[in-house]
Amino acid sequence: MIEILNPAELARAKETGALVADILQTLKSRSTVGTNLLDIDRWAQTMIVEAGALSCYVDYEPSFGRGPFGHYICTAVNDAVLHGLPYDYTLADGDLLTLDLAVANGGVAADSAISFLVGDSKPPESVAMISATERALSAGIAAAGPGARIGDISHAIGSVLREAGYPINTEFGGHGIGSTMHQDPHVPNTGRPGRGYKLRPGLLLALEPWVMADTAELITDADGWTLRSATGSRTAHSEHTIAITHDGAEILTLREPEKI
Ligand code: MG
Ligand code: MG
Repeated sequence: MIEILNPAELARAKETGALVADILQTLKSRSTVGTNLLDIDRWAQTMIVEAGALSCYVDYEPSFGRGPFGHYICTAVNDAVLHGLPYDYTLADGDLLTLDLAVANGGVAADSAISFLVGDSKPPESVAMISATERALSAGIAAAGPGARIGDISHAIGSVLREAGYPINTEFGGHGIGSTMHQDPHVPNTGRPGRGYKLRPGLLLALEPWVMADTAELITDADGWTLRSATGSRTAHSEHTIAITHDGAEILTLREPEKI
């Protein structure tokens, strides 16, 4: 089902998006050398509860997961990329951390992810990979607007990732979002322009380019949730929730300008 939000719902979506951005920004600033992933999860829980919002993750139980997720944020380190289940791990200098957060408030969900390097060490390959997913996200957003098609976004994202030299996995990509976290239409991270669903004002999309350095193949961790690169190579992931407007697209989960 594809939802088109009315103005009142869109106003609530903006509030939810701002909350997700604020929580992610705070968690990023606290994710330093010596921080445990379980602390990040607890901080996320506290901020969601204090805002009177609902976690989209804690009871999430899709067919590919092993029981309810049971946590409030996805934390993926180095070779982990999607659905990273928080566990007892202490961050080290140079770790590449992805935080992915989806929250619902006032009946509308927002979803955003950020990858960054922990501490002072900045491995150039990791910086380049994070930058590629951010540029792909910007290109996807620039291609979104009324009358454009899903394939235009997919093509824009895929072109940046491919030009940067990364293989593209098509099992998981972006998605519609609204009263629930995952909705139609699916937004693959590669595709043909001019194809697919035509975008309309009031549609919310979560765009989320992600890559693994040298493979398109995922493996599932023994925890039953975390997806890792099959080769053990590092990964990166950038996601924003956007609203299609009458003259383009508005980013609902925009954070303060920040450095990798
Ligand atoms: Mg997400
Ligand atoms: Mg998402």
